[in-house]
Amino acid sequence: MKKKIVVLGSTGSIGTSCLDVIRSFKEEFEIIGLAAGKNIELLLKQIEEFRPRVVSVINEFFAQKLEEKIPSYNVEIKHGKEGYMELASIEDVDLVVSALVGSAGLIPTLSALNAGKNVALANKESLVVAGHLVTKTAKETGARILPIDSEHCAIFQCLQGQDKKALRRLILTASGGPFKNSSIKKFQEVTPDEAIKHPNWKMGKKISVDSATLMNKGLEIIEASWLFDIDVSRIDVVIHPQSIIHSMVEFVDGSILAQLGIADMRIPIAYALSWPKRLELDLPKLDIISCSPLTFEPPDMDKFPCLRLAYEAAKIGGSMPCILSASNEVAVEAFLSKRIRFDQIPKVIEEVLNRLEPGNCDSLDEIINEDARARLMAEMVIQEFYD
Ligand code: NDP
Repeated sequence: MKKKIVVLGSTGSIGTSCLDVIRSFKEEFEIIGLAAGKNIELLLKQIEEFRPRVVSVINEFFAQKLEEKIPSYNVEIKHGKEGYMELASIEDVDLVVSALVGSAGLIPTLSALNAGKNVALANKESLVVAGHLVTKTAKETGARILPIDSEHCAIFQCLQGQDKKALRRLILTASGGPFKNSSIKKFQEVTPDEAIKHPNWKMGKKISVDSATLMNKGLEIIEASWLFDIDVSRIDVVIHPQSIIHSMVEFVDGSILAQLGIADMRIPIAYALSWPKRLELDLPKLDIISCSPLTFEPPDMDKFPCLRLAYEAAKIGGSMPCILSASNEVAVEAFLSKRIRFDQIPKVIEEVLNRLEPGNCDSLDEIINEDARARLMAEMVIQEFYD
């Protein structure tokens, strides 16, 4: 029996890598649904190749545009939040790949988990803004969350067959991003094009900027804390510029297990798609001689305050991680549209965190409210200081 899959975010970096894996294993997987945002041209090609039953796009305008181009295919076209939610909960689907970007991924991820679907999770923001609700929903319905993020996939692999009580700490590796060796002064001049050029990974724009500020690592400690049910005080970050070790787990006897591999997201995606099986991927092999030496250094939280802010938000708890993530989304967007400078991203976020008291975030309504409150405040801070 083929595993029936829905890919949310099929036109993005993770989505296209996921379809690349599925393309090589057509005997294992069947695409039932695809969801994109606005990239109709690419979605159209994906529809032609994978023939999904249902697709969804961001709004009615794009749904109509798509409809005009595919009158002869037997594919149902949905749109908007409801469209994504319907796709995420199609009855005979086995696994939903959650790869929309930002908090837009939260509601469809929750729909999938509510419907008892296993979720291959790339959309880390869902866990950052609503970790309690997401993990509680998965527990209630028995759905599994299989991490796609390479660090979390590495930890997930290292924990297979281990006694959770023997876990001492998690060590997340970070490449350090494109500005690891730049002076702080240079941060005032960084352009969006420079910020999205990651040294080791090819990713979407938002996560690339997050990697350059180290906010990505900050979001990842919060993601790991929910995924592996461990306090952030037991999650450390280490800069490992080669991106060969994708993360490590330390046990109470002092043993550390690590997962190594080339920097290619198809490896963690394939693991999440086929777990507990492994797929024989046709990718370049890791040559541990030529990739040595492997080096490690502590992160510089003065130079990259976003990581510090994430630890602080996680420690405060409540809706603070949601406020952190939402204000980061606004600040990154403002940087990409050249309203603020690169070095002003953490300043906007810190100002929002200082101004807002954390609220409750147990229910979806509360989370939506906190997310909106943080976005509004971030916008106000940008207008007040930088416009
Ligand atoms: P991309 O920007 O490349 O792709 C995002 C996808 O989401 C696209 O399909 C886009 O559609 C769609 N989309 C964007 N905004 C909206 C919206 N408001 N409503 C509905 N759909 C939307 O992102 P990535 O693939 O890089 O990242 C996706 C998620 O995976 C993120 O949460 C990221 O943090 C995480 N991740 C990514 C990694 C990577 O290597 N890229 C690694 C680990 C985690 P369209 O383009 O059609 O408009």
